[in-house]
Amino acid sequence: MNIIEELKGCNVVGITGHVRPDGDCTSSTLALYNYIRLNLPEVDVNVYLEQPGVEFSYLKGFNDIKNIPEDKIFDLFFVLDCSSSDRIEPFISCFNNAKKTICIDHHVSNNQFAQQNLVKPEASSTCEVLYETFDEDKIDKNIAECIYTGIIHDTGVFKYSCTSLKTMTIAGKMMAMGIDYSDIIDNSFYKKTYIQNQILGRALLESVLFYDGKCIFSNVTKEEMDFYGVTGKELGGIIEQLRLTEGVEVAILMYDCGENEHKVSMRSKKFIDVSKIAVAFGGGGHVRAAGFTARGTIYDLINKIGEMIEEQYERNN
Ligand code: 5GP
Ligand code: MN
Repeated sequence: MNIIEELKGCNVVGITGHVRPDGDCTSSTLALYNYIRLNLPEVDVNVYLEQPGVEFSYLKGFNDIKNIPEDKIFDLFFVLDCSSSDRIEPFISCFNNAKKTICIDHHVSNNQFAQQNLVKPEASSTCEVLYETFDEDKIDKNIAECIYTGIIHDTGVFKYSCTSLKTMTIAGKMMAMGIDYSDIIDNSFYKKTYIQNQILGRALLESVLFYDGKCIFSNVTKEEMDFYGVTGKELGGIIEQLRLTEGVEVAILMYDCGENEHKVSMRSKKFIDVSKIAVAFGGGGHVRAAGFTARGTIYDLINKIGEMIEEQYERNN
């Protein structure tokens, strides 16, 4: 797919990603936005996202992000880093009003919901898939910053198994464009506020090991989030620290996101396919990183997840 080709004859273009946008989602939508603005300045291009974290505010176009849908008729509407149409609320009306829709993604669980779907589950990130739809000579430093940011976020700074030669080659090309990669990694990925460190400490302190130490679980309650004054967006990094625990194969982090409703994040190291578990609960993701939202008690949820992990172990042995 070539983006410039796809945009032929299009005057009004919309771009969105998934709910609770993360690094790859925010960066890929802004990369595409900046690419269109740079190369097709006559096109009316708009990015719609739930407000991303401030750690991404250095990305060009961040202040142009619209949080509320508009009733424009889009000639072309892009959905990036999103596996199913129920994950683009509240912008589903924009998608439904579009004459043509394209989804660019890398989730195994993608259900091909757009008219055209470019889905590469083997790719590290949506930024990696998107980059290949760009003409190399039509990319500037701002776009390079976006692509690089998406890649580092979805590869955990080049360490997850989704990192390939292609990933590193693209990242290298972005570095060669003069981006401040050290700052990007420190400020958008590793930096934590004092409060974020406190809640990280608390989540680690209250974590529990189960299934012979192969699983670790922690939960952040609504009361704790209110006490520290944080939202789900600020809990990034906790799940990764849990995953790094010696002997652990699966890490599970939950936080309250409504009355009796929980957001569940899962990460695995080598054996367990957490995307299968997430899909069974109506969510999705990747083999080593997946999530879902569910109602019920924490106790019931963790028991069910535990059973599914055990089943996978039994089947593999
Ligand atoms: P996280 O645990 O960081 O929220 O998400 C890890 C991965 O799972 C991401 O790729 C994310 O898109 C996917 N994911 C998380 N929650 C959900 C969900 O509720 N539904 C779907 N389809 N995917 C999810
Ligand atoms: Mn992604």
